[in-house]
Order: sequence, then structure tokens, then C-alpha cells
Amino acid sequence: MFELLKLACDIATRTGCQFADARYLDIRKQRVMSRDHALSGCNDSEDCGFGVRVLYQGSWGFASSPNYSAAEVEQVVTLALQIARASARAPRAGGVQWAPEPPQKFSYRSDCRVDPFAVSLEEKAGLLVSANEVMLKNDAVKRAQGYLLFKRVQRWYANSEGAELHSDVTSSESVIWAIAVGQGDFQDRNWKAPSCSRGFEAYDRTEFLAQAERVAAEAEEKLSARLAPEGEFDIVTDSENLSLTIHESVGHATELDRVMGYEVSMAGSSFVTRDKRGRFRYGSDAVTLMADNTLEHGLATQGFDDDGVPGQRWEIVKDGIFQTYSSGREFAHYVDEERSRGSCRADHWSSIPIVRIPNLLLMPGKQELGPEELIADVRHGLYFEGMDSFSIDQWRLNFQFGGNAVWEIRNGKKAGMLKAALYQSRTPTFWNACDATCDASHWRAHGIMNCGKGDPMQIAQMTHGAAPTRFRNIRICRGRDA
Ligand SMILES: [Zn+2]
Repeated sequence: MFELLKLACDIATRTGCQFADARYLDIRKQRVMSRDHALSGCNDSEDCGFGVRVLYQGSWGFASSPNYSAAEVEQVVTLALQIARASARAPRAGGVQWAPEPPQKFSYRSDCRVDPFAVSLEEKAGLLVSANEVMLKNDAVKRAQGYLLFKRVQRWYANSEGAELHSDVTSSESVIWAIAVGQGDFQDRNWKAPSCSRGFEAYDRTEFLAQAERVAAEAEEKLSARLAPEGEFDIVTDSENLSLTIHESVGHATELDRVMGYEVSMAGSSFVTRDKRGRFRYGSDAVTLMADNTLEHGLATQGFDDDGVPGQRWEIVKDGIFQTYSSGREFAHYVDEERSRGSCRADHWSSIPIVRIPNLLLMPGKQELGPEELIADVRHGLYFEGMDSFSIDQWRLNFQFGGNAVWEIRNGKKAGMLKAALYQSRTPTFWNACDATCDASHWRAHGIMNCGKGDPMQIAQMTHGAAPTRFRNIRICRGRDA
């Protein structure tokens, strides 16, 4: 498989390129969807092709094709080179400064014990439909839905420096949800089987059915929930809820290409300017956020990135202080780093690699602390579980997040569900209000498989994680009035 990729790099080098790399991808995807007592759809696709990136006189060119032959490789390199020559007419000041990386040769395979594509459609349908039937046993539930999503990406990468890398990553995700109707309202409650790089062994029927029963009961309970109070309250978030807040307010905010203005026209920039590196108080002492592209079963754990740099582990925030960004080889020099953080990924063979959020984890507290103790120290507050609507501004600074289920906390105990609760804050205000996070035994990972970035849009996947965490005096507002 490497032969034609190396040919692409050789042609580019002979034509005077400073650097070239080539990737061949074989992408298999399957999504199985259910509604009430039956399957509502099944998409199955396989998509193969290659892309060639060339750096010529400090400017990039990229081209791709689904036809993997020697003749096509030659044409694609020629096209990439024409694009690079055209780009070189309007060069960026100083051109692309490419961080060095020793060429590596290795193969990475994610942990997959039961190949999801070898499991019958009947078995997958059975899992989803039986979960729906459990949810529908609850009279308040008028609709039950779910899906299973499986993805396998085989990737071969070569570059003009001599790297030859291969990865084979299987990942999956499943969500079931119940919609309850009554009391002049409708409410939904979902359960996500944690998205991760595992095979069908991640799906346990007994757990699906138990979660289906809980989800249905909580959807019904949400119908009679009180409207959330407004004002300042202490909040406790579960790991899934906080995963999205980590993603939006830290993950995207600390992508170095965004900081340098590369994403401005699409989804904005970042308040985390370069002068903040090593000194800015992002959060309280309780906040350490670790990037870890070596995390077992992490969705961004792929062995190496699309610049040919192996997965790494580094602190983005340590004891509350901002340390450094996620980066690719093109961006490391902007913060005087000699090596890329290995976080540059493309979502397809026809896409160019861009800086993507790594697996990003809020590290658990060092003291023994469980969620009950965390809640026990709240006189009047709210407990947020799961993900719901959110919004964040173009500087990743002012935001609001909801939860899929929210409970009131009264005198240290959960006291009934609330509707329409949102927490609203500024990124540093919020993370500085964090006064405790539970210990490692309560830490959970949550994968995100639909992170959009770039123009044209690319969809990436990564894992976040946290233990239940408490924040003091956070503004609560309502997403609706009745
Ligand atoms: Zn995202």
C-alpha cells in the first residue's frame, strides 16, 4: 500500500517541493437507527481514496482522488503542485515554517475484540428495538428511538522525510432516547453508551435495558419538573455534561490555529492569546486539563496525526494555570515550540489536515471524594446531567449550557427535577469557580463524534472526561418561561 504513496512523495520532491505527504484511507461506516418497534433506517458505506499535500516555496497545495493507480497519483501530484505554485504568488510572510519530526515507521491498531461489521444486522436491531420496547412500557413515553454508529478507518501515511505509518481504528457510538408527552408538555431523556474506540464488545444488552428503563422514568419525571429558579447558585455537573463544556470552552479555545486567526471566518477566534501561555489563571487550583492522544479507547487516539507525528500527552491547564495549546507542525513555531503536539487531523482522504481538539480530560481530584459528598456541601443549587443545547461566543469566552436532566439541590440532597435550566458564565470565571472534583473512581470518559471545524466543514472525533465537579455561585437562567 505504501508504494504509490512513496511514489507521490518522490515525484513532489523531484519537482522541487520542500515537503510532501500522501495518505490513503479506507473508511467503513454503518449507522443503524430504530424508532419504536422497528428499525427506521440503516446506512452502510465504504469509501476509499488518497490525498497528496505538497509544500512548494513556502506554500501549500493539496489534491485527492478515489482512483488509486500510478497514473492517477502522478496527475494528483501535478494538480497539488499547480495549486501550491498559484498559492506561492501570494505567500504568507515567512512562508510555512515546518516543525521537524524524525520520520517514524510503525503501525497502530485500536483495541477491537468484536468486529462490529461482522455482527449481524438482526443482533443490532434486536438490541435497539428491545431497548425501545422497555422505554415504551412506560405509559408516558410516546416515542422511543435509538441508533448505533460504527466506524472503521484504515490509514496509510508516507512523507518525503521517510515516514511510513499505518493505523486501523474502530470506533462506535450509541444513543437511546425516550420522548414523554403529558401535562401540556413533552420532554426527552437520553442515554449515551460512551462513544469510544472499541468494537461491539462495548455494547452490553443488560445495561442497555436497565438504562432504557431509567431513561423512560426520567423522561416522565421531567414532565412534572418545576421551572428552574433564576439567580446565582452552586452547581454540580456530571462527567458527560462537563465534557461538552470542556470541549467548547477549553478544547476549541486552545487550538493554536484558531488563536492565530485561521478559523475566524467560520467559528471565530479565541480569547486565549499567546501572551497568556504559562501565566494566565484559566481556572482554580482544582483544575488540571490534560491532553492525551495516547488515552486507551480515546477517539483521538490514532497512533499518529496527519502530519506524521505520534500521539502525545501534555498539560493544557495545570493547577489552574494555562500551559500551552494543541498544535500541528505548521503552528508550533508560533509559540516557540520545537515540536508539534501531534494534533493535526483530516476527516477524509479529500480533506487537508487541520488542528483538532485532542482527547482532553479534567483530571480527577487527589482527595477521596464521591458525588454525594460533593452535593452534601451545597445548600441550594443545581445538579446537571448529560448534554443539551449550548451557545458560546466567537472568543470562546461567554457561554451557556443546559443539561439533559437537571435536579434541584436543597440542603445537600437532590430534591426533584427542574425544567429549562441553563448555566451562564465566562470561561475563566466558570473554571475559577470550580472548588472540587471527585476522585478517580468516579471519573468517566465521554466521546464526541461530531465536532465541526473548518471551511469546508470537517467532522472530527475526540474524547473528554471528568469526574462529577462543583462550581460555586454560577448564574442560572431559564431557556423558556413556561
Ligand atoms: Zn467541536
